[in-house]
Amino acid sequence: MSRRTRARACPERTCVGCREHAGKAGLLRVVMIEGRIVPDLRGTLPGRGAYVHPAQRCVDLAVRRRAFQRAFRAQGPLDTAELQHLRSP
Ligand SMILES: [Zn+2]
Repeated sequence: MSRRTRARACPERTCVGCREHAGKAGLLRVVMIEGRIVPDLRGTLPGRGAYVHPAQRCVDLAVRRRAFQRAFRAQGPLDTAELQHLRSP
């Protein structure tokens, strides 16, 4: 019996900011709602999600690289104001 396939049971996601891979637990899921990027703090929001480290550095990187636009296939600019509250101390 091979145990190698078990690795797939732990999904890895890529932070859209720093592009590092991390387990789902280490990343914040965000979704787009009417042009706004909203943190899915409870993991219950529907729709297409993107993942980012809950750190200002990664949010800034993602904004600068337009990674959210790409992740959500948005045409225009997205409002990321809600992510600015994540500013880590
Ligand atoms: Zn990151």
